[in-house]
Amino acid sequence: MYVQSANRYKRSIPITTHPTIVWFRDDLRAADNPALYKAGLRAAPVICVYIREKVNSLRPLGGAANWWLHHSLKSLSSTLSSHDVRLVLKTGDPLEILSKMAGNIGADHVMWNRRYAPDEIDIDQKIKFALKGQGLHVESFNANLLNEPWEIKTGSDKPYKVFTPYWRACRPQSAPLDNGYEPSFKNQTELNVTSENLADWNLDPENPDWAEGFSEYWNPGETGAREQLEEFLGHGIDGYKDNRDVPAQPATSFLSPYLRFGEISPKQIWRTLDDRFGDNFSVDAEKFLAEIGWREFSKTLLFYADDLSEKNWKDEFDSFPWRDDPQGFKAWTQGQTGYPLVDAGMRQLWQKGWMHNRVRMVTASFLIKHLMINWREGEKWFWDTLVDADAASNPASWQWVAGSGADASPFFRIFNPIIQSEKFDPDGDYIRRFVPELKDVPKKHIHAPWAAPKDVLEQAGVTLGETYPKPIVDHKFARERALSAYKAMRS
Ligand SMILES: Cc1cc2nc3c(=O)[nH]c(=O)nc-3n(C[C@H](O)[C@H](O)[C@H](O)COP(=O)(O)OP(=O)(O)OC[C@H]3O[C@@H](n4cnc5c(N)ncnc54)[C@H](O)[C@@H]3O)c2cc1C
Repeated sequence: MYVQSANRYKRSIPITTHPTIVWFRDDLRAADNPALYKAGLRAAPVICVYIREKVNSLRPLGGAANWWLHHSLKSLSSTLSSHDVRLVLKTGDPLEILSKMAGNIGADHVMWNRRYAPDEIDIDQKIKFALKGQGLHVESFNANLLNEPWEIKTGSDKPYKVFTPYWRACRPQSAPLDNGYEPSFKNQTELNVTSENLADWNLDPENPDWAEGFSEYWNPGETGAREQLEEFLGHGIDGYKDNRDVPAQPATSFLSPYLRFGEISPKQIWRTLDDRFGDNFSVDAEKFLAEIGWREFSKTLLFYADDLSEKNWKDEFDSFPWRDDPQGFKAWTQGQTGYPLVDAGMRQLWQKGWMHNRVRMVTASFLIKHLMINWREGEKWFWDTLVDADAASNPASWQWVAGSGADASPFFRIFNPIIQSEKFDPDGDYIRRFVPELKDVPKKHIHAPWAAPKDVLEQAGVTLGETYPKPIVDHKFARERALSAYKAMRS
């Protein structure tokens, strides 16, 4: 239970040196945290704050991400306590909170690490301006990217729109040679600041506890992140390039939620890879790093986009004739489409708050192209159910699948969910794990059970339409319908 001993901080102690406030956001770690490190260097008392921001323009976190945040804040609070630094929790308008807190404790510095959504930048700029106007020193840093979005430009000084040249441009110049920013703190004194209680934020669901199974899979916080990276380097990275597409294997790093909440930084990851591979990155390590590059590319798109989760990056998609299909949407969210790979993915998402990348592409494609439901609906569902739900990677990836995004997969490339299943889950192991009602269907038929002979289904205990759904839409019909809609949009 997270309970701050508020009384400990109530005694007012004369402040000899003005304290520094560190405002935590998407950087929930102590190591390699430039704002925290720089605050420590001042050798004046440091107090940290996490604010549940009540600002209309900000997109509220989804349910699964809230679960993660709860556990991550607990972990951060305990790490900071071990340095004798306190994490205070507040709810409300960040400017009011920071300004009042600084006034109350006589702080003269406020520090934070940057974030990149246009609305967040807007808020931060206004706060910086206002606090400076109050005579405070405000400093911000890059904690979560290899390169700031504005640093990587084409020869004609424009942002990149295509990933490969983008990555070529920033990969060689971005080796993170700086120190590990291990923080240390001197002259900590007790400051009179009250904290809200994390339990009162109700981020961890109780009735019903739909996230019950999450802690089996995840250990939010910076220790969990480091352990996950070590695990990956020990067991996953060799063969990553080929195996990363096989959802039945634990072949990827599972670092996405840790990166999302800044419990580990891409620079820490790169340095660890450097220690392991030196100048000779294996093809697997290079591929893994390029995926981190996709994360950076998405942040760049977010930085320059008007509204990535609402507006088509390519505006020709504004006239796409999306269908209204609440039943189809419900079947998709519940993993009841009748397409086993799609259903396995959607159920993995619900159970684990995470889905394998290949299957994210297949399930998203199914919603957009087979059901012709607006990509924004799918993006919102993922936003609510992913522990790694990210303001850049989620909409950018949905737009990539839809064809409306930057460097996107063309709309007419429609994934066949049966072929994808045969190719990437050939033995049906992934399907059996998440769709147990098909566990006894032989691998030859598990990808398209509706086409299996009657006796095979009988032997496997499957009655289509009763124990497992019939396909909610025919693949060939859906493909043709999507292609004609696309043609109509372009004409
Ligand atoms: C429709 C859709 C929605 C997605 N939504 C999100 C999201 O909200 N948050 C998110 O972090 N990723 C998202 N992704 C990208 C990707 O699926 C996940 O990052 C990846 O599956 C996470 O697993 P991992 O950490 O084991 O990945 P690894 O394969 O181990 O990759 C390492 C890291 O690289 C980054 N990364 C990998 N692939 C991508 C990618 N295609 N785009 C951007 N970054 C990538 C992630 O930070 C990841 O942790 C989405 C992809 C699709 C197709």
